[in-house]
Amino acid sequence: TSIANGKANSVNNIPTIKFTKLFINGDFVDSVSGKRFETIDPRSGEVIAQISKGGKEDIDIAVKAARQAFDLGPWPRLPGSERAKILMKWADLIDENAEVAAALDAIDAGKLYHMCKNVEVPAAANTLRYYAGAADKIHGQVLKMSREFHGYTLMEPVGVVGHIIPWNFPTTMFFIKVSPSLAAGCTMVLKPAEQTPLSALFYAHLAKLAGIPDGVLNVVPGFGPIAGAAVSSHMDIDAVSFTGSTKTGREIMQAAAKSNLKQVSLELGGKSPLIIFDDADIDKAAELALIGILYNKGEVCVASSRVFVQEGIYDEFEKKLVEKAKAWIVGDPFDPISQQGPQVDKKQFEKVLSYIEHGKREGATLLTGGKTLGNRGYYIEPTIFSDIKDDMLIAQDEIFGPVMALKKFKTIEEAIKSANNTKYGLAAGIVTKNLDTANTVSRSIRAGTVWINCYFAFGDDIPFGGYKMSGFGKDHGMEALHKYFQVKSVVTPIYNSPW
Ligand code: ADP
Repeated sequence: TSIANGKANSVNNIPTIKFTKLFINGDFVDSVSGKRFETIDPRSGEVIAQISKGGKEDIDIAVKAARQAFDLGPWPRLPGSERAKILMKWADLIDENAEVAAALDAIDAGKLYHMCKNVEVPAAANTLRYYAGAADKIHGQVLKMSREFHGYTLMEPVGVVGHIIPWNFPTTMFFIKVSPSLAAGCTMVLKPAEQTPLSALFYAHLAKLAGIPDGVLNVVPGFGPIAGAAVSSHMDIDAVSFTGSTKTGREIMQAAAKSNLKQVSLELGGKSPLIIFDDADIDKAAELALIGILYNKGEVCVASSRVFVQEGIYDEFEKKLVEKAKAWIVGDPFDPISQQGPQVDKKQFEKVLSYIEHGKREGATLLTGGKTLGNRGYYIEPTIFSDIKDDMLIAQDEIFGPVMALKKFKTIEEAIKSANNTKYGLAAGIVTKNLDTANTVSRSIRAGTVWINCYFAFGDDIPFGGYKMSGFGKDHGMEALHKYFQVKSVVTPIYNSPW
């Protein structure tokens, strides 16, 4: 059993792993090298399955298939409504298979099974439906340029797209990338993270059942510096869409620039502030702050990793927060009472622990947590530091774990200054009943999303992406769809125009 703190039990509904090979041109195939890599169960550190290891030569084969499907295949040429039908069918298959998909993410990433089954997997199917609904509503414009000329714009799919995704939301990330690009008529090669290849391969299988033509969607698991780099530096990929760390995003942009100047969009790290004012409901605010950092064990790019609380309620807030953190249940992600599973792998586990040690050395006060839980697997206690100074490493670096940096503030100006004192700009939260405060702060924070009296409120129709070193380009919304189009301007003279 991988019971972490004795409150949650291990449940052994481990799914059968059916898909372990590369999905290229509609078939599951071995890698050219024949090499495989292990994917690990973070509840125990044990091997789940051996996965074919995609290398540069496999990415080449996948890109050829995608290129052929784009240049000659039906997909970009189908009416949008026909693409939509297939995407809708795929969405239904995902709903029908939600339990399998959820179990794959739970075992591969240590994510809460019930959260995956009831929230993330159905939401991913709806993301597909959202873009399927848009596929036949895409049009250009007619432009009256002058008396002598007129023009119009054509929305053309950008071509072969490379998607490189991270391990924290294997399902959500897969569908926020493939759904708009498929609706646009693109073909693609997706490289899942090496930590979490299982659900992506399962979704590829369902895509084939739904009728997505061969070569349109290729899924090639492999390691970042080899398979990922082969995508970002490929001469025949037209655009790359990446979600992951700022460090890797920088490498991807460099590789894109050095190769064929492919279009790049990057959704990168964050160190998002949550600012709680004196007029807040203390209990609700403490709940929000806790979920903001502990959801998905803090492995969330928008995690509220810096919490600023106004001095009038600070002491009471701190007390409530610590009480709630102590009652939080860390344990096997398959147990319905668990609120937090293990960190995704040994590397992340050790990284988070080293930040905790750093926080102590830097002079922050450890209010609660800070230790590992259980004698196997990668479980970490909910951890809260107070007495934070803005320039401490734990207030600046993205830790990507259940570690909160808590700070007291006096004035709104001071809170805004601290909140913006970061290289990142992904998201922010504000808790107040005062409309003026909410409006002032939301306009003053340099971040792509601001949540007022809520957190993690995502929607298919609301654009999501970063400012500053959190990247550029949006996922979600019509903005994400437009990322996968080229706008072609066609101009023609008009003779004898009356005006
Ligand atoms: P982390 O460090 O948290 O694993 P990364 O940003 O490195 O986050 O990983 C996100 C995705 O980027 C993964 O699919 C990974 O394999 C891929 N990746 C990592 N390094 C590179 C690279 N140099 N080029 C392209 N992709 C990469």
